[in-house]
Amino acid sequence: MGRWGEGLFEGDHDLDEASYISEDAGIELYHYEIDEKDPESLGKGLAATRAHLNNGVLDRLFEQYSVKANTDDENSWGNEKLRLVILAALAMRVGATISSKYMDLLRTSYTQIHVSPKYSLPLADSNFRAPGKVQFETALRLYKNDGTPYSFDVARCAAVGCGKAHDDLDDGKKLLRCGKCKVASYCGKECQTAHWKEHKRVCKTPAQVEADLRRSSGPYVMLNV
Ligand SMILES: [Zn+2]
Ligand SMILES: [Zn+2]
Repeated sequence: MGRWGEGLFEGDHDLDEASYISEDAGIELYHYEIDEKDPESLGKGLAATRAHLNNGVLDRLFEQYSVKANTDDENSWGNEKLRLVILAALAMRVGATISSKYMDLLRTSYTQIHVSPKYSLPLADSNFRAPGKVQFETALRLYKNDGTPYSFDVARCAAVGCGKAHDDLDDGKKLLRCGKCKVASYCGKECQTAHWKEHKRVCKTPAQVEADLRRSSGPYVMLNV
């Protein structure tokens, strides 16, 4: 399969990590879509999973992984700092409590994770993608840590320092998509203008993206496994 997107949980590596972490936690932690009202949407259900993590399990895993993250080799394939990020994202998805000690650790460690902006071989594809990093940055800032689940799947304003989703906007307002790439979303003109300097480097029309893909595949066809 490889990678089908640039965000968190959009590549096999993240999903493999989620399954290892689930084993360590003794409970299924990843499900494609989590619905608070549907108790069947996640292994034992959202509330039971949150309670399980809050009952010392999350702290134990943070402790265990952070010891390894301290001795992390930048070039190793098994990136322990990224494992901390995946653990945190899984916890946020169910609204588990992350103690302030580990929130601090996350704020310092995620910035040290190497970002691979381009395609790499699936086996070595263990790093952050730039959009995944921004996604996590936003989550760290917006996570309420009061039992409210945080979704990594909803569209959010792409402007740095904003990250608002539909639900965060005033009634009747919607996120607007960039008219050129139709990918980046913004909560309003102000955020779009503020982000343009950075966004223009990656903003391409769908036709340009397709042309780039044709050019870059050249004589070699990369098969995802
Ligand atoms: Zn754009
Ligand atoms: Zn915004």
